[in-house]
Amino acid sequence: PQEPAPALTARGLKARYGGFTALDGVDLDITPGRVTAIIGPNGAGKSTLFHCLAGTLRPAGGRILLGARDITRLPAHARTRLGIARTFQQLAVFPSLTVAENVHVGAEQGRLPDPAAAERTLRLLTLDGPLRDLPAAALPTGTLRRVELARALAGSPRVLLLDEPAAGLDTAEVTALTRVLKALAADGTALLVVEHDLDLVADLADVVHVMTAGRIVASGPPDHVLDTAWAVAP
Ligand code: ADP
Ligand code: MG
Repeated sequence: PQEPAPALTARGLKARYGGFTALDGVDLDITPGRVTAIIGPNGAGKSTLFHCLAGTLRPAGGRILLGARDITRLPAHARTRLGIARTFQQLAVFPSLTVAENVHVGAEQGRLPDPAAAERTLRLLTLDGPLRDLPAAALPTGTLRRVELARALAGSPRVLLLDEPAAGLDTAEVTALTRVLKALAADGTALLVVEHDLDLVADLADVVHVMTAGRIVASGPPDHVLDTAWAVAP
């Protein structure tokens, strides 16, 4: 079968913090219907790449394309509007808003601002029961990660960027997360997952890229990449 066109593309992406080069020419395709994973040791530049794709960090060089459109200079909120949704490694929900309110804000900021989509997402992530009207501040990490994911999904994104979605989750929560992410990919969403949990990556990813010192140093299917010495423990 023909390779689908990438939803989001990085070409020659560079990022610097002062004089320090954190991304040193990254080429990446994020494809609809697939889970693309980035692994690599702490400090490799995974979150920096993520910030450049999401629009919260301005690259020092290179280009980012959404489909054929150059979005390198678009701010984060405009990218969200065009269908690039993200979650944060450090959780970022509105603590004083309820679960449902957080998810509805996500819908309003998204590609298709639709309250019905927010309600569907609340059901999909089983946040429509007693959790629905609780303030986010009261919730444990695993539930907050679910709220964040729901907030990102409520805007019907074409591209979903996830930075360490399994951090702080227990085994049952990881299983539930895996099921949801696989279903999203099967529906045609393009997923990028930055993740330390290599078991999760092996289970979830269609293609894995290994980053070290701001470069992608190995790429391939998980059974190939994770068996090599590149799969450095975080
Ligand atoms: P990873 O997510 O792979 O652990 P990061 O992208 O967070 O890596 O960081 C890549 C490198 O950039 C690290 O050396 C880190 O110390 C540095 N770095 C990250 N954020 C900043 C910042 N805001 N200011 C200066 N250096 C930073
Ligand atoms: Mg990181």
